[in-house]
Amino acid sequence: MISIDFECGRCHRFEGYFKDYQAFKAQLEGKLIACPLCESTEVTRKYTGCSIQAKSSDPAKIEKQNPNLFDTIKAFNRFVRDHFENVGRDFTDMARAIHCGLDEERNIYGEASSEEVKDLLEDGISVMPLIDVEDMMN
Ligand SMILES: [Zn+2]
Repeated sequence: MISIDFECGRCHRFEGYFKDYQAFKAQLEGKLIACPLCESTEVTRKYTGCSIQAKSSDPAKIEKQNPNLFDTIKAFNRFVRDHFENVGRDFTDMARAIHCGLDEERNIYGEASSEEVKDLLEDGISVMPLIDVEDMMN
């Protein structure tokens, strides 16, 4: 059983209880979570002090023989793609779930908005941004 905090469009805060993370996600996506005060289903999840625990693979394993920063970044990105699971847009939720022990602990990468990354960092979840070198050089 997990408890998750929510806030509706009228700023009512409430807590919901779910069997597990999957149940929470299904109910959120099905708009089955309603504010107990005004019955609004326009609720957003209020994240509590949950931070990620994914054991970061040791970036030191990347050979430091090449002094070229771009090559180092490319090597790091390649390392992540080879060793981390791509969870796409689910990254923020997955990172929190893993940190909270609601999902199997593993290395993941995916997409998050800069705001989401900021929120994760504020909650103590160590997020490593992937720099798109190809993009930067174009
Ligand atoms: Zn409400």
